[in-house]
Amino acid sequence: MEPHIQEEIRESLCNLAPEYKEMLPEKYEKIGDILIIHLHSVLTPYKKDIGEAYKKAFNVKTVLQKGRIRGEFRVPRFEILAGSSTVTIHRENKILYKLDLSKVMFSAGNIHERIRMSTLPHDETVVDMFAGIGYFTLPIAKHCHSHVHAVEKNTDAYHFLCTNIELNNVESFVTPHLADCRDFYGTADRVIMGHPRAHNHLDTAFSICEKGFIHYHEFTPEGKWERIHTRLRNAAEKAGKSISIEEIRKIKKFSPGVWHVVCDVHVF
Ligand code: SAM
Repeated sequence: MEPHIQEEIRESLCNLAPEYKEMLPEKYEKIGDILIIHLHSVLTPYKKDIGEAYKKAFNVKTVLQKGRIRGEFRVPRFEILAGSSTVTIHRENKILYKLDLSKVMFSAGNIHERIRMSTLPHDETVVDMFAGIGYFTLPIAKHCHSHVHAVEKNTDAYHFLCTNIELNNVESFVTPHLADCRDFYGTADRVIMGHPRAHNHLDTAFSICEKGFIHYHEFTPEGKWERIHTRLRNAAEKAGKSISIEEIRKIKKFSPGVWHVVCDVHVF
């Protein structure tokens, strides 16, 4: 956090005890004009004043207290500390992402993978099995001019996916599907599996990708990298496919000792 912002926050919280000022969060995520912070529990009695102080210092419309992202639909749990609206438009890599943070997630930490997806080969057919609001779909459509089948089963996320396709003028490159990815039928050069439990859907991925690439995501405990190879080789063998595992990249630390990784798999 920039020193002058930190100074402004501390000055505006003049009634907060010095030892508590030391515990004010320095880390934050800014999604559009919404700030997300994580307060130490001892600061809970002062959360509203702290929220207002961060809202003013960062000049945002809403400040949220970070909660856990839960369940199959990866829905975030946030508490509003200041402001009221949880709908915003986040700008990144010439893409506009409109979303409601009370209904759908947005992981600032995945930015490098979203940008990497925008540098893929052009003019392919791609299936994004867990499209969300278009995290990977939009950069691939906008920057690679590939045709993307964006599959999403949560109606809230699907609503923003369709909004964002229009917002980014990529209607001719994206076909949205409100469906479970298991029910998607078709083939593609490339499959994106951006979900922590993608390993449960490898059979579907191999049925879509005859030959080409699968970008397989998972949350892997440090040192358990072999698990990735085992899961992929077993699924490929069951599907009667040959694969080579090109690269395993760490996207971000998900929790202590657990990494969000993506593995590039060549199917041939
Ligand atoms: N790909 C995004 C990224 O990495 O930033 C993550 C999107 S979010 C973690 C995963 C999305 O997959 C959610 O919007 C969820 O609703 C959706 N989803 C979960 N299971 C699904 C399924 N079986 N078929 C289609 N979508 C699914």
